[in-house]
Amino acid sequence: MARVAFDHVWKRYGTNAVVSDLTLEVADGEFVVLVGPSGSGKSTALRMLAGLEEISGGQIMIGDRVVNELTPKDRDVAMVFQSYALYPHMSVFDNMAYGLKLHHVGKEDIARRVRETASFLGIGELLDRKPRQLSGGQRQRVALGRAIVREPQVFLMDEPLSNLDAKLRVQTRAEIIKLHQRLGTTTIYVTHDQVEAMTMGDRIAVLNDGRLQQFDTPDRLYRSPVNLFVAGFIGSPAMNFFDMRVQYADGQGRLVGEHFSLPVADADAGALAGYHDAVVTVGIRPEDIVDRRLDGQLPADAVIGVKVDVVETLGPEQYVYLETAAGDTMVARIPPDVVLRAGTSVDVVLPPDRLYYFDRATGQAIRTEPAGVAETA
Ligand code: ADP
Ligand code: MG
Repeated sequence: MARVAFDHVWKRYGTNAVVSDLTLEVADGEFVVLVGPSGSGKSTALRMLAGLEEISGGQIMIGDRVVNELTPKDRDVAMVFQSYALYPHMSVFDNMAYGLKLHHVGKEDIARRVRETASFLGIGELLDRKPRQLSGGQRQRVALGRAIVREPQVFLMDEPLSNLDAKLRVQTRAEIIKLHQRLGTTTIYVTHDQVEAMTMGDRIAVLNDGRLQQFDTPDRLYRSPVNLFVAGFIGSPAMNFFDMRVQYADGQGRLVGEHFSLPVADADAGALAGYHDAVVTVGIRPEDIVDRRLDGQLPADAVIGVKVDVVETLGPEQYVYLETAAGDTMVARIPPDVVLRAGTSVDVVLPPDRLYYFDRATGQAIRTEPAGVAETA
């Protein structure tokens, strides 16, 4: 086990930077997820760490060693790919044993480690089969097993669940978490799926366009996104955004739109004071929008009338697509027993303490940090 550190790491193809100035420190034994949309540089970052891709600038450390110049074999990491990359002509046993043979581990030691790992993963009966005689889920386990038997300092996983069907994906996700709890090996896991990231990571590094946006716990990413990108990326359905003008009168802040206005919570008054008379982007999560009939206690001046466009019934909840008089659209997550019909009007509450604010020019969050909470990005 070891800590991993990216220190001002760059990757350029010609003049095009696909990873820009990445600085990230993963603690010994931590499970860190790199998440971001397709093309954001996740695989490139992981491959530079594995030694499969040259570094254009900066330094990568594993444990106390700078690994920039080390071959993949000497970095003591094991990687699991989306494609599994098993050798088709080799048995499961030989696939799992291959890396150990390369490292000149003794024959008996190899047999013991492969059998132990296979039985731990529930593939002990499959050791004589060829990859083509396995289901997708079984192949994926062999790929994991091949990494585990190596007993590396660090596991690297690049979208290892993407080729599995939805049910198997959720099941294997839980198994990988259990595996990490048991082995405690430092793990860096790449995915484009924010749900996977939120459920698996001790901490999550959000990348966009080759740049680290925020590196934080799932809870802090959800509650305190540092910018519009993170706010829109984490959470499903995504946070709703609309623009409103900030107005202060007698020390009281309000957000003023064409057809409705909303109060500013006391906790946000300080941070927004500098935006008097300016337009800011306001965000609210679908789960924070409340049907007024459900809660009479919420502030009456935070109510807006909206039109119901579409209702999606999911079973435990419904996603309700709403349109304001100004033509802004919003999605709300509403409990399933509330009757809402497309084409009708409804009053919803946007609770002031659930609103997020962003600077329109920079996209950065506008907020007052609670005392004692350190900025991490
Ligand atoms: P992700 O894994 O987040 O989807 P990648 O790290 O695979 O993203 O790719 C990041 C960017 O780098 C993409 O825009 C991709 O087109 C570009 N890229 C990857 N490999 C090369 C290459 N060999 N030459 C030029 N551009 C590349
Ligand atoms: Mg990728």
